Amino acid sequence: MSHDTPAAAEALPRFRSVLDRMVSYRPSKAVSGPAGPVHQLAANESPYGPPSAVVEAIGREALRINRYPDNGCTELIAAIAASLGVPEEGVAVGCGSVGVAQMLMAAVAEPGAEVLYAWRSFEAYPILTRLAGAAAVEVPLRDGTHDLDAMADAITDRTRLVFVCNPNNPTGTVVAEAALRSFLDRVPADCLVVLDEAYREYVRDTRTPDGLELAAGRPNVVVLRTFSKAYGLAALRVGFMVGHPVVAGAVRKAFLPFSVNSVAQAAATAALRSADELMERVETTVAERERVRAALVGRGWTVPPSEANFLWLPLGDRAAAFGEHCGRAGVVVRPFAGDGVRVSVGSAAQNDAFLAAAAAFETVIS
Ligand SMILES: *Cc1c(COP(=O)(O)O)cnc(C)c1O
Repeated sequence: MSHDTPAAAEALPRFRSVLDRMVSYRPSKAVSGPAGPVHQLAANESPYGPPSAVVEAIGREALRINRYPDNGCTELIAAIAASLGVPEEGVAVGCGSVGVAQMLMAAVAEPGAEVLYAWRSFEAYPILTRLAGAAAVEVPLRDGTHDLDAMADAITDRTRLVFVCNPNNPTGTVVAEAALRSFLDRVPADCLVVLDEAYREYVRDTRTPDGLELAAGRPNVVVLRTFSKAYGLAALRVGFMVGHPVVAGAVRKAFLPFSVNSVAQAAATAALRSADELMERVETTVAERERVRAALVGRGWTVPPSEANFLWLPLGDRAAAFGEHCGRAGVVVRPFAGDGVRVSVGSAAQNDAFLAAAAAFETVIS
């Protein structure tokens, strides 16, 4: 039997047409620098390995992986609720916060429903929306920021879910508290609003609303957080939502059984106990973010202020070329052709390598 392109006559399963519009995963080609290491600044990961307490928890749990995990994630949910000061009933966990978003979608978005979000924003939103069989309604950013008035205008009686990514990936911008409150006041009570706060720990602008406070009095508002960024557990896939117990209950019903594994549960619980150590690293990343931005701005680059662990370079037509240039210099960044380039804030040495690549690009283009 051949796995090559099938002959026209060969009978194949019939797939949903939505798959025709989805691209297959391609591993990023190994880019190696002219000399020395490759700096991975494309995925907004923490540049730091896990604290020893997390490694020890993983080691202990490794000895028990013949057993299924706790499907209720009891200990982890209790630890999350205690650390945030929220009731356990309002917390639900998933295989990454993307997994939680998919469960929320499964819970509210039937075929024909509309899912609303800003664009450009997190690349998972269009994928999840299509897989759910819902229609995506994308409202363009205004000055790199959510246009909440236009988003409220775009809500129809078919809108079941609205994402607000705050800070926004990839622009790093935040919406202000007053603007978000008046937006939430305009959203119908039966439409779910998902405040994606994956980068919450990196926010330093005090005008930025805390989603947990906004969600407290509003049953249709949930907050998504993750262990993938500030907590440095991207490979283990743990995220969670905080919101009304009825919404958390719906998410638990939509849970793919055992999809948060026991090693991940133990590591996330240990990471919460190591929060002080991890938040010191976040402080370093915030300081590096400001250093890299100031260096670029000082050299004439346009770089909007960022409240996340990455910077956005709105390079337009030069985005793809800059991405390739950085790759050749051993620095992997995330270009969005025709739009801009997102570069994660790494260690000081990685950031220096990026700044050197950026400076070399200036001589290339001038
Ligand atoms: C990185 C990121 C996440 C985290 O996804 P996980 O599935 O938890 O790893 C969520 N939302 C946004 C906007 C992100 O950029």
